[in-house]
Amino acid sequence: MRIYIPFSNIWFFFLFFIYALILFFGSKNICSQFYIDVKCRYENKNMVYLTFDDGPDKKITPQILKILKKHNVKSTFFCIGKKAETYPNILKQIAEEGHAVGNHSYSHSLYFDFFGTTKVLKELEKTNQLIKQITGEECKVFRPPYGVTNPNIARAVKKTKMQVFGWNIRSLDTVKNKKQIMKRLQKVQNGDIILFHDTKEQTVEILDEFLSSYKQFK
Ligand SMILES: [Zn+2]
Repeated sequence: MRIYIPFSNIWFFFLFFIYALILFFGSKNICSQFYIDVKCRYENKNMVYLTFDDGPDKKITPQILKILKKHNVKSTFFCIGKKAETYPNILKQIAEEGHAVGNHSYSHSLYFDFFGTTKVLKELEKTNQLIKQITGEECKVFRPPYGVTNPNIARAVKKTKMQVFGWNIRSLDTVKNKKQIMKRLQKVQNGDIILFHDTKEQTVEILDEFLSSYKQFK
């Protein structure tokens, strides 16, 4: 008896390749909404959302806070758990000055997207406990390290009931120079969520200049 397969092997591998490609880009693009609902932009909002990842940093975060205070702007800091553990007073200052604190995993491991659901969940819960302990606030928002989402991360996040936050404007403040970043920020519109990092000296300078020139904040 012969079994006929409707597709030739070549077609099978071709379709499998396309499928793998879709999964790959769905994981890498945080706004793909492929595995979980991700907030990447606010429609009909008359403001711009500033977010700072990878702190709290001993040197940079206090400088960022000073600039935000000067311009009377509130933002969200997606903090790494182990850094919050090292610099609890800075995390406390973020919350006390009226900014929101988000979860950005405990380790920010390079291999975070290879972790199983249980390991991801442990990272999220440990960081949320630290945030609660230090600031007294429940953490409601999460931004995955490197902006990667996958089924394991999605399952863990759903258990914590946190909202995942992406961005639609990436300042590239860790890799580009000041002039290039300011050029990228020229396209900012109301409703945009901008990704910055409170780990680099140049971000402090850029922020002051950006907030001075951006009229909607005043
Ligand atoms: Zn990060």
